[in-house]
Amino acid sequence: MRVIGTAGHVDHGKSTLIKALTGVHPDRLKEEQEREMTIDLGFAWFELPGGEPVGIVDVPGHRDFIENMLAGIGGIDAALFVVAADEGVMPQTLEHLAILDILQVQGGVIALTKIDLVSDQEWIDLVEEDVRGVVGDTVFNDAPIIQVSAKTGQGIAELIETLERILEVRPPRQDLGRPRLPVDRVFSMAGFGTVVTGTMSDGHLQVGDEVEILPGGKKGRIRGLQTHKQKEDIAVPGSRTAVNISGIALDEVSRGDVIAHPGDYQPTRRLDLKFRLLGDVSRALKHNTEVKFFIGAAEVLGRVRTLGKEVIKPGEEGWLQLELREPVVAMRNDHYILRRPSPGETLGGGRVIDPHPSRRYKRFKPGLLDRLESLATGAPEDVYLQSLAVRQAAPLREVTQGSNLEFESAEKALKILLENEEIVVLESFQGDLSVKSDVMVTTRGYWNQISASLLLAVDGYHANHPLRSGMPKEELKSKLKLDTRLFNGLTSNLKEEGQLVESGPLVLQPGHKITFSTHQEQEVEILLQRFAASPYAPPTIKESRAEVGDDVFQAMVDLNLLIQVSPEVVFRTEDYTSMVGEIQELLEDQETISAAQVRDHFNTSRRYVLALLEHLDNIGVTIRQGDVRRLK
Ligand code: GDP
Repeated sequence: MRVIGTAGHVDHGKSTLIKALTGVHPDRLKEEQEREMTIDLGFAWFELPGGEPVGIVDVPGHRDFIENMLAGIGGIDAALFVVAADEGVMPQTLEHLAILDILQVQGGVIALTKIDLVSDQEWIDLVEEDVRGVVGDTVFNDAPIIQVSAKTGQGIAELIETLERILEVRPPRQDLGRPRLPVDRVFSMAGFGTVVTGTMSDGHLQVGDEVEILPGGKKGRIRGLQTHKQKEDIAVPGSRTAVNISGIALDEVSRGDVIAHPGDYQPTRRLDLKFRLLGDVSRALKHNTEVKFFIGAAEVLGRVRTLGKEVIKPGEEGWLQLELREPVVAMRNDHYILRRPSPGETLGGGRVIDPHPSRRYKRFKPGLLDRLESLATGAPEDVYLQSLAVRQAAPLREVTQGSNLEFESAEKALKILLENEEIVVLESFQGDLSVKSDVMVTTRGYWNQISASLLLAVDGYHANHPLRSGMPKEELKSKLKLDTRLFNGLTSNLKEEGQLVESGPLVLQPGHKITFSTHQEQEVEILLQRFAASPYAPPTIKESRAEVGDDVFQAMVDLNLLIQVSPEVVFRTEDYTSMVGEIQELLEDQETISAAQVRDHFNTSRRYVLALLEHLDNIGVTIRQGDVRRLK
């Protein structure tokens, strides 16, 4: 299935030629389908001699309708460019030609129509020469010119053969696994409900698919698909397609919307553009000019910011950042047109370089144009990495979406970037890493930056708190101002690399040891002697803190010199170990033991015994039954 579009000055015979090719006059189709819309896009089709069906998008040529033409012309395989032999090149001939050129519609045939009206061969030669002259620098440079008459049938067979030859060598439309249907018409059919039409691109849609109407985001389901007059289960890329959508009311979808699978596209209101101003426009394009932006079938008002230049002169190329009033769906490399809103004038157009720029640029920022240039020419890896770089760290699917690469080249790009270690994976995953997955990644550069500041922060903490065994993770996280996912990914990667150790709620550098000053060491020694003097009724926590200070006391606990069994009671580790051992032995002999028996055994006081026994219950060594305890 191929799609061609017509273009050319009003009344030069486009509709009549379509009738001659297809047997259907576009006006009749329109009346049948949507009585109220009389100046909209026609939709007819015919079969090439070899059997290939060709859908035709007929776009009206009246000056006011140029914007209508734009809605249909995107996504065509070839243009049927019409010039009436009796009138020759007219203003809209030139404007349509400029648009086809900006949109880079590669294939084309020029039909010199109404040839029956001209008998003067010299005139015909003159018109042909004129046409050759104006297409000279455009995509139509080599397009054949066929003389036709829809009235007598002259040249029609030759026109069809020529179209077949041209379409044969056009590359097949690719299925990029990311279907989108820019809606050029919406109507309702009795018994079916809402129907939209458009030219399918970048993937296929299937009956039963859940779809999203962008930019609004309303969801529906495909109830039926039709290409030409035939019902289909699948609409493949490049086909003129009518989609019957359930769950969507007529007023919930309009021309310019895009039908896609949920989540595949992210509408945008800011785009970076490469732009060429046509040579014959009335004036230069100034910074901050209001424009009408045409992409797919959408038409949205916005303002352009000229980057790196104050103005773009006629015939010149430049870079724009476009801020739109309404969001649109756009992908990198999509072609677009800009027009002046009033008086209407086609300014020019070009390709979308970045549909999701991270920010509003300072217009003369150093390096900005280089970055755009490399985006415009970059390999998929560069584009993918660039998408990650502006986000610093993000789930892969977000990076993929931002890159606007088709999934297949995104996969390849990711593979290369992982092999070159330019991307760091922050979270664990199973199987192959997919560009659609939710796994967090970061660029090597950003990773180096944040891991260095993390290690530096921990280092600083150790230096400031030599008595603490580590830095609380929460404190580190808020110091680094990282979100939880990124922080967790970062710490777990550093742990794996052996650069960081985690211990409960703390993190520390490997090899970090609590170090006492000489004075503190003496205090510790003195306190431990007091513990040794009375191992089963040692100084309380309060007394200990008073003696050595809070920090040294905590360090003694962290160093396992002391073991805390309750908010008040603490024992030396060796005394704790022997007490627990003896209690276990007693219980093995006599099965149960009371607090009083333990107290007498160690010749201590009730408060130590109760604290210890409750602690043993808590850690699951003993179990309490009334007044006695058993081994658990
Ligand atoms: P469009 O505005 O480009 O679609 O032009 P139309 O197809 O509506 O044609 C404009 C007028 O030219 C109509 O009156 C047609 O009948 C007439 N016309 C179109 N093609 C031919 C042709 O090949 N020969 C003659 N004699 N008249 C034609």
